[in-house]
Amino acid sequence: MHTTKKQFKKILSYYSDISTLNNIQATLEWDLNVNLPRSGGQGRADQTAYITKLSAEKWQDPTFVELVAEASTLKDQTLEEKAIIRNLQHSLKYYTRIPQALIIEFSRETSLAFMAWNSAKQKNDFSEFSPHLKSIIKLCQTMGDHLTYEKDPYDALLDLYEPGLTTADCKQYFSEIKTPLTSLLKKIVNSKKYNALPEFVNGDIVFSQKKQQELSHFVLKKMGYDFDSGRLDISPHPFTIGLGRQDIRITTMYQSTDFRDSLMASIHEGGHALYEQGVNPEYANTPLDGGVSLGIHESQSRFWENQIGRSPEFIQFITPLLHAFYPELETADSERLSLLFNHVSPGFIRIEADEVTYNLHILIRFELEHALINGKLEVDDLPEAWNTKMKKYLGIIPPTNKQGVLQDVHWSYGSFGYFPTYTLGNLYAGQLHAAIEKETHYTQNLTTGELRTPLGWLRSNIHQHGSVYLPDELIKNATGSTLSTSHYLTYITDKYTRLYNLS
Ligand code: MG
Repeated sequence: MHTTKKQFKKILSYYSDISTLNNIQATLEWDLNVNLPRSGGQGRADQTAYITKLSAEKWQDPTFVELVAEASTLKDQTLEEKAIIRNLQHSLKYYTRIPQALIIEFSRETSLAFMAWNSAKQKNDFSEFSPHLKSIIKLCQTMGDHLTYEKDPYDALLDLYEPGLTTADCKQYFSEIKTPLTSLLKKIVNSKKYNALPEFVNGDIVFSQKKQQELSHFVLKKMGYDFDSGRLDISPHPFTIGLGRQDIRITTMYQSTDFRDSLMASIHEGGHALYEQGVNPEYANTPLDGGVSLGIHESQSRFWENQIGRSPEFIQFITPLLHAFYPELETADSERLSLLFNHVSPGFIRIEADEVTYNLHILIRFELEHALINGKLEVDDLPEAWNTKMKKYLGIIPPTNKQGVLQDVHWSYGSFGYFPTYTLGNLYAGQLHAAIEKETHYTQNLTTGELRTPLGWLRSNIHQHGSVYLPDELIKNATGSTLSTSHYLTYITDKYTRLYNLS
């Protein structure tokens, strides 16, 4: 990246070591999720804690902290230089306000908690995970206190993932979408086209993993995902991770009796990866590399998954492919496949949730996290509180904790404040879709698999900017206005009204 100021040259040179440590950390994390043998947890926890310590020492080095302070006062900063200072100050808040011992303890505890969660989920035994969750919540509360907040301790945690996002913002967004979504859900469930048990995926047909994998590869290539700078693996929870500027990896999961999940997970993670692969290469190893926030990141994955992958137009394009890959589906035309991919039904599992119920799953997690961090809910009461909220918002109660409170990996990572960014992503995606459609009419051309138009638009309006603009600014520059729930609500209402012939 070009800069003429000696302070910024020093900052960039210093930061490239931090970036290398981040990449090493990511490599350990990728391996933990994809390859680690059952007994390898303790060793990995030690390794991760050590890299975390090295990284924290780098961030807390007084020479670096002073350098950033000095550079922040320089006149005539370019847009990029201002963004570098803003991003470093945001991270430094975490490293300079939270004691190093706490950061290390957090890293060690979350590594162990991940192994415990994995085992607890397999055995459907919440008590194996709960002691770890208790200590993680305590650590998060202590962190929140160190980070400081104005109104709500949960605000301090939200800000780590989405700079500036507050509990009040979340409450506002959820209050605007809650009623329209629950009433849309009711209309769908009562419609003539509604079919509680979708055909073809009721367990009678086994879809080979090899075929599923080939289809994921085909669609990812079509999207523009660069396999020379990434790879596709398997993990219990699909994710995207950057191990280096030209090493952006994704994972998916294969269900033997449902061909949809692996494809949609691959497209979703592919959307995340396209964002990372599309950042201006000059920003490599600088504080401007990578996506600007988790909400914007999720908008990219959701846009590819829902606005593209689940659009009736794109499904029309992949229908012949689906028939070729899975001859059992030959009797299903694109309209039936479209309903299958957009099948709405209140279910237990968030990552399998349809577009209409998805944000209600997030709402449940937001309310529970907020109560846990504020000390209004105890971990021992969490499974019951989970089930109560499932009943309230989705009308169903999971028969096991494995399908309930133990389903998500996030709390084992200590990622409190993360879930709301998923809903934010859906809202951003709705707004981006409206803007791209208005400008390019891209949807009609999805029937031919024409994906270069939306990718090109995203490359120039979102991806290339990396972390230069804050989320609000980025969305305003791209779409003409800051985030409003109206675009998302229009999109989802129109789409499902058409699909289910609602009035
Ligand atoms: Mg995602």
